[in-house]
Amino acid sequence: MSVLIKNATLVNADASEQSDVFINNGLIERIEPDIHSADVNLSASSPVEVIDASGKYIIPGGVDVHTHFNIDVGIAQSCDDFYSGTVSAACGGTTTIIDHMGFGPAGCSLHHQLERYHEYACDSAVIDYSFHGTIQHIDDSILDEMESMVLDEGISSFKLYLTYGFKLDDTEVLAALSRLNQLNALTCVHPENDGAIRFLKNRMLARGLKDPIYHALSRPPECEAEAVGRMINLAVLAGDAPVYIVHLSNGIGLEYIRQAHQRGQPVFAETCPQYLQLDINRYNETCSGDFPADQGLKYIMSPPLRDSDHLKQLWHGLQDGTISTVATDHCAFTMEQKRAGRDGFQYCPNGMPGVENRIPLMFSEGVMKGRLSINHFVDLVSTKPAQLFGLYPRKGVIAEGSDADLVIIDPDCEVTLSQSQMHSRSDYCPFEGMTLQGYPVMTLSRGKIIVRNGVFKGLAGDGEFIPRETLNRCFRYWNRS
Ligand SMILES: [Zn+2]
Repeated sequence: MSVLIKNATLVNADASEQSDVFINNGLIERIEPDIHSADVNLSASSPVEVIDASGKYIIPGGVDVHTHFNIDVGIAQSCDDFYSGTVSAACGGTTTIIDHMGFGPAGCSLHHQLERYHEYACDSAVIDYSFHGTIQHIDDSILDEMESMVLDEGISSFKLYLTYGFKLDDTEVLAALSRLNQLNALTCVHPENDGAIRFLKNRMLARGLKDPIYHALSRPPECEAEAVGRMINLAVLAGDAPVYIVHLSNGIGLEYIRQAHQRGQPVFAETCPQYLQLDINRYNETCSGDFPADQGLKYIMSPPLRDSDHLKQLWHGLQDGTISTVATDHCAFTMEQKRAGRDGFQYCPNGMPGVENRIPLMFSEGVMKGRLSINHFVDLVSTKPAQLFGLYPRKGVIAEGSDADLVIIDPDCEVTLSQSQMHSRSDYCPFEGMTLQGYPVMTLSRGKIIVRNGVFKGLAGDGEFIPRETLNRCFRYWNRS
């Protein structure tokens, strides 16, 4: 498919320009003002579709570096797989995802989960994808295996957990950080203090406090912040290993990251739209049914939603550059699955949908409300994630030679979010009823129009696995100002 997009405002992380874009053979071939279809018809590999994008923005396709499709969390299987998950992503303006692979059987190798995830994704994904390695234990064979994951498989980032069943202790964290640092791979961490959570949770359950709000109160900001601070210090001990904090939800941890930046330490932070838009009062949402706190179950995830003061601090963290990326932690369940938590918050599977909402929410709440420049928005949702995770400049930028992953946003389009328009298999939208100003109206994946005015036109299996570069190459593009 060859496409000529006319009269749009092209937006990159560093600048915007008024130009036309000619797309051929899946790549961006020409960016110039005033390209005539007669000029490109000769070089086009197929008949050229001309799109008039006057009054609209074109951004590089969104890169969501935190999803969980096909995940089995032990007490439940998520309802989105690599098909429904990537269709949702595409319809919300995201053209590449990096999925955090779930845990495999105890003692399994790193390649075990990678092979399984390749099978999940290869015939299902509708957009390009990669995976983060998942470290669930440390021994010599895992440390050895990391090299081939990075060099042969193109997996240049790994995640470890400081809580949950496969948490690592500090000795193991240091071993992982040191080894990944040698390999120029990025260590991602889910930071929560496991011991503190266990203490608070047991105390609440002993008192019969089981409603959704107690999920949040058993994992207060200090639990997360303590683990953020610990990771920052351990990373120094591992030879200044680069570390990436996933789903930052609170202002105390944010302050620790700010201090690390003042010392010049390579610490990167991600937050998610839910931590910017939804506050802790959501856990007290009621419904007219027999169980008063039923609706609050929708928002059970870890870390939990915080009070409004933290939301303000996170927005400030985006504005001053302390937070580098916005991802989603999309991990979708149905209400029926979430209702396992009626018997106690500890039985509710953690997670909620969001991959389709990220770009529209950040555009409306960030750009249209004047909190972020449109270039900074592009940096947070596309460019910086692509740079940090070794996808740039193939992804994350509108440039000649880059993949033609593009999204057209109409700033005049007003949309009230509702589950009925969403493409996740979950039966609720956490942002239900929010009215957004501006919405993606077209998504192209490697030059192919896969979403047109909210209607999905792509095909299962069209997404490709993208092997990723290591950090020493990524850092060439990255400078923290
Ligand atoms: Zn996650």
